[in-house]
Amino acid sequence: MKTPFLPAVAEFLKASPLPHFINGRRHPGGATRAVINPVDGSVLAEVAYGSETEVNQAVTAAQNAFPAWAARPAVERSILLHRLAERMEKEAAVLAQIESLDVGKAITATEGFDIPFGIACIRYFADLATQAQYDMPLAIKNIEARVHRAPYGVCGFIFPWNFPFDLLLWGIIPALAAGNTVVVKPSEVTPLSTLYVAQLASECGFPAGVVNVVVGDGAGVGAPLTAHPLVRRMSFTGSSEVGRKIGEVCGRRLIPSKLELGGKGAAVVFDDADVASTAKQLAGAITFNTGQVCCTATRWIVHEKIFDSLAQQAAETLKATKIGVGLDPETQMGPVVSATQRDRILGYLSRGKAEGADVVLDGGPAEVRDAKGGFFVKPWLLAGSPENVCCREEIFGPAAYLVKFRDEAEAVEIVNRLDYGLANSVWSTDLARANRVAERLVAGNNWVNAHNVFAYGLPYGGVNRSGLGGGVNSPATFYDYLRDATIARPLA
Ligand code: NAD
Repeated sequence: MKTPFLPAVAEFLKASPLPHFINGRRHPGGATRAVINPVDGSVLAEVAYGSETEVNQAVTAAQNAFPAWAARPAVERSILLHRLAERMEKEAAVLAQIESLDVGKAITATEGFDIPFGIACIRYFADLATQAQYDMPLAIKNIEARVHRAPYGVCGFIFPWNFPFDLLLWGIIPALAAGNTVVVKPSEVTPLSTLYVAQLASECGFPAGVVNVVVGDGAGVGAPLTAHPLVRRMSFTGSSEVGRKIGEVCGRRLIPSKLELGGKGAAVVFDDADVASTAKQLAGAITFNTGQVCCTATRWIVHEKIFDSLAQQAAETLKATKIGVGLDPETQMGPVVSATQRDRILGYLSRGKAEGADVVLDGGPAEVRDAKGGFFVKPWLLAGSPENVCCREEIFGPAAYLVKFRDEAEAVEIVNRLDYGLANSVWSTDLARANRVAERLVAGNNWVNAHNVFAYGLPYGGVNRSGLGGGVNSPATFYDYLRDATIARPLA
């Protein structure tokens, strides 16, 4: 079914080539590149493709805007953020369509999750900014002392392509609420919603230079942004490989970096779990956003007694999943984001089989009527040894690898075998056991009887190869964007 573009979406795309957003203005500059529609491989729009020149302009604008933005009372920044949230609520349908078109996501997901959940982030940090403690008195004998908290200055942000809208807001909103100015490099694959948000922020009254967006690739824009001497902190969301490079540069520059990286999440399913419900939820975890979710459950560590039954029920759910065009409201799973991503997923399927995995549900390219040339893949399940490549490496597609276990200690050992540490889940009706096992899994987030649990106030982040530097979505995230200074006066 073909859904027409909303007039505001058509108008936005018609302004192609879409420029950067620097110093409160749409800013052409540099070369241009096509943004591809994952549904059929057609060109959605051309976008500006920047370089060090645009990075320098954006950082200078952010540096110039910083003193006045930081000096504003927190309540004024909060009011502006709430105004932006209100405007986004009015434009939610437009944002949902842009996000669906750019990433290929099912429109029901962008309408029901991405857009409202991103807007809730703005409300959360806007309120937090008015309640935060910017000065903390210290009780020290003979010294009048306090910790004073102040924003850093220009903060750089680099994002991946899988949740452009939500990750943008999870990143920049706490920084802005705390009084920093920002320069954003969205993924070159999915820059559209970020450019739209920057324009909205400006229309809502954010001063010029507070929010800047430079589109381009890692080498041309990401690297000069990370290395820029006026950037006081960096936040990066993306692969562990690129995260390590960003961390190295920030380490040399002695600036803090927040790294939200890749994962290979496990679901440990005990024999007392509700098999039907668990199978359905795990199948849903790998079809949500077509499996392009850093924290999702891609290793299913299942007790031998229920292994066959869970595998078969999950396979049935996956077979029944409706694959289709993102904008079709009937679609449950859209295409993956690009031809590169499709080839990567299919490559892993071949390698996994070649290494001897059992095929529980076979995958491959999927055909979708009315969408020739799209990057559609069928979900798949492999099983066998945890040493298989598909159980060790991040695939980032609608795929999971099943491993049998006999006892609790073995399950914990299999999960902790990898150096990733983003998110796992434990499934059991014995909550004492579920909590005990959750405590032993090495990851930033371990959920019980659910996978992908997100809320504002619930910290989210990774450890080891999955991340460093504080995570997102909690009061601690807000305080990460304030630097501490002690101010002390001896009394005697
Ligand atoms: P990626 O690491 O290839 O790219 C991420 C961003 O880094 C892009 O904007 C890219 O242009 C930029 N980049 C690339 N090389 C760079 C360099 N040398 N210097 C500066 N910037 C550079 O990741 P991706 O393919 O866009 O996204 C998928 C990855 O993101 C997966 O590994 C996934 O697990 C991870 N991810 C993690 C989280 C989290 O919260 N932990 C969330 C979403 C995605």
